[in-house]
Amino acid sequence: MTEWVSTTVLADRNPRWRTDLKVSLREENWSESMQIIVDKILNDQVLNHQDGLLLFSEPNLFELGRLANLHKQAMFGERAYFNSNVHVNQTNICVLACRFCAFRRGPKADDAYELSVENYLEELSKFSPYVDEVHSVGGLHPEWTVEHYEELFQRIQAEHPHISIKALTAVEVKHLAQLSNLSIESTLQRLKNAGLTSLPGGGAEILDDDVRAIICNGKESSQEYLDIHRTAHNIGLPSNCTMLFGTIETASQRVDHILKLRDLGSLTNGFQCFVPYPFLPDSTRLPMAQLSTGQEILRVIAVSRILLDSIAHIKAYRMNIGDELSELALQFGADDIDGTVQQESIMHLAGSITPLTHDLQQLSKLVQNAGCVPIKRNTIYTEFEEYVPKKPVKRLPMA
Ligand code: SF4
Repeated sequence: MTEWVSTTVLADRNPRWRTDLKVSLREENWSESMQIIVDKILNDQVLNHQDGLLLFSEPNLFELGRLANLHKQAMFGERAYFNSNVHVNQTNICVLACRFCAFRRGPKADDAYELSVENYLEELSKFSPYVDEVHSVGGLHPEWTVEHYEELFQRIQAEHPHISIKALTAVEVKHLAQLSNLSIESTLQRLKNAGLTSLPGGGAEILDDDVRAIICNGKESSQEYLDIHRTAHNIGLPSNCTMLFGTIETASQRVDHILKLRDLGSLTNGFQCFVPYPFLPDSTRLPMAQLSTGQEILRVIAVSRILLDSIAHIKAYRMNIGDELSELALQFGADDIDGTVQQESIMHLAGSITPLTHDLQQLSKLVQNAGCVPIKRNTIYTEFEEYVPKKPVKRLPMA
């Protein structure tokens, strides 16, 4: 297997990306439908809901992908990012029962679990030498208050100071605030003081309360999701945001969702990455879900890249869409494939078969196979290392 070596590089978003994008847009021939969108971009017009619908119904997927990829190339060149992380899901016990969720358990279920602070740290210690991020989300535990997480985060910081803590979705923050009788802001501030680095974006599902009432009744409302992320950004906690698609939503609701995130991103500049992922049906309870084909997944990624100019990164989430589609997605506007992950329950219980054994070398190979330059990043996209093969990679001769 090829060996890869890393060197530190500066690799953030190109500040002149809009100008560079216009140059490359002018060099291409576009179909009539895509020219409408291209002209708006060339004239510095903000793409609106109608434009989003046009993109979702564009018949030529490859032209759509080309437009998204030109956005990505203007922003990041050929670079694609990943990190060195581990997932630790602290508990599967949850007071809610979202219909798409294959992970949650009631407190009396045989396979319900809760990691005490000690157990959690034991688990993390197994991976600590190899990672610089722990990603922790879990169920809404009926008893754990903010003090539990303060103790956990303080202990992680003290015992593993090189590890960034990306933890707690918006609904977990809301639940903690309610249990602890605190405002959202005080809850987030206390968690930040205890060592929390950033919030993952999970739980956005579709930011439409009619859809939410069916697929995740009892979860935070659309506005609450946005408010919690806005509050996090305002106190200096960056976050990611997500979209779960392929349940019962319409294209119009997807566009609304993306534009709500774009608006908040423009306001706060606090979203680092958008992670769209399809509903995985196995073992879950949403028989009316429309599901998503590979083409649909690539389409969502491409449309997201074109519409979301206020969010730097678009992630092809390997744990959900698999390695092969992630490689393709790097040519359809995505620039990030998440990390090593090493253990993951939420997607795998829902049916994912993505391998959990990839190391940084294998991620580098995946990125290079997609025609991109492998860049390892830290949690908050401020430190970067380029991975280059020690020996030139042999390519098969063209026929
Ligand atoms: S998605 Fe989260 S909040 Fe909903 S049931 Fe699953 S663990 Fe609980």
